[in-house]
Amino acid sequence: MTQIIHRKDTRPVRVGNITIGGKDEVIIQSMTTTKTHDVDATVAEIERLVEAGCQVVRVACPDERAANAIPEIKKRITIPLVVDIHFDYRLALKAIEGGADKIRINPGNIGKKEKVEAVVNAAKAKGIPIRIGVNAGSLEKKILEKYGYPTADGMVESALHHIKILEDLDFHDIIVSLKASDVNLAIEAYEKAAQVIKYPLHLGITESGTLFAGTVKSAAGLGAILSKGIGNTVRISLSADPVEEVKVARELLKSFGLAANAATLISCPTCGRIEIDLISIANEVEEYISKIKAPIKVAVLGCAVNGPGEAREADIGIAGARGEGLLFRHGKIIRKVPEEIMVEELKKEVDKLAEEHYKK
Ligand code: SF4
Repeated sequence: MTQIIHRKDTRPVRVGNITIGGKDEVIIQSMTTTKTHDVDATVAEIERLVEAGCQVVRVACPDERAANAIPEIKKRITIPLVVDIHFDYRLALKAIEGGADKIRINPGNIGKKEKVEAVVNAAKAKGIPIRIGVNAGSLEKKILEKYGYPTADGMVESALHHIKILEDLDFHDIIVSLKASDVNLAIEAYEKAAQVIKYPLHLGITESGTLFAGTVKSAAGLGAILSKGIGNTVRISLSADPVEEVKVARELLKSFGLAANAATLISCPTCGRIEIDLISIANEVEEYISKIKAPIKVAVLGCAVNGPGEAREADIGIAGARGEGLLFRHGKIIRKVPEEIMVEELKKEVDKLAEEHYKK
């Protein structure tokens, strides 16, 4: 059995005003779907991602037009900006010059030593990290020949190869990802990587699918990895609005108590004892608390028989009773409110708790 690794043991790496690694918090990332050179559309999408709880955003940089847009995008957003480059060292230099807070490029794919050195020296001068992104689907030919097909060992070997190039140039602000679309392969690769790589790991199950299937697949794979104390930052890859990626990531991290800034909903599965329209209330409350940036637990329960007791860990909750709602805190009823206003009353209590948290 794989030994439990603790994510705190990784090297802390600064990305803009955020630290990735060296602590228990797992940073939520997403990637824009707009054309990066369309600055207005890209910034608008980033704003929606931030509102949903995204902490670091990545943009693709496929060409010069995209690279030229980096300074303006950077100026207009509030979270660290990662620029994703494949092969072209000139684009990497431009992105770094333009204010990128991190670049994603595999040094082994840049080509001549002087080009690699130019990128590394530019990143060093600006104090920004480099993410090495190993992908099972695009392993180096040499590694594929050695292993025959993409394996966890091959992925780790690829990561170590890129790491060595950076370390030989005395560069250590490194973040590593080892993505695979196959869940078992991704789990094995991250487990093996965590044993030998001291840098923070960026987690992802790549090409995981549509909103529903991709959410389940990502939660299964990343859940297994996170539960072993592995992973410092995460991106859920969905064929969907990237805001959904952020929502899934938040929910996943909340399940493990790893999101420092998110409220959680506890809602009962309903049964024959139900006294209120619980499903629509639960959805409304879920939507409301998605904007709250404090670790509050909110419960919505169908009845008072088992209700408050079943949700003792909730900071605030509501349970249906005939024609009214019972507001409770940590399992104790604090007051009764008419059914028509119970959701509003619950929201007010949530706001109060959030205010108390923000003041701390
Ligand atoms: Fe049933 Fe009440 Fe439990 Fe909901 S809280 S599942 S309605 S007993």
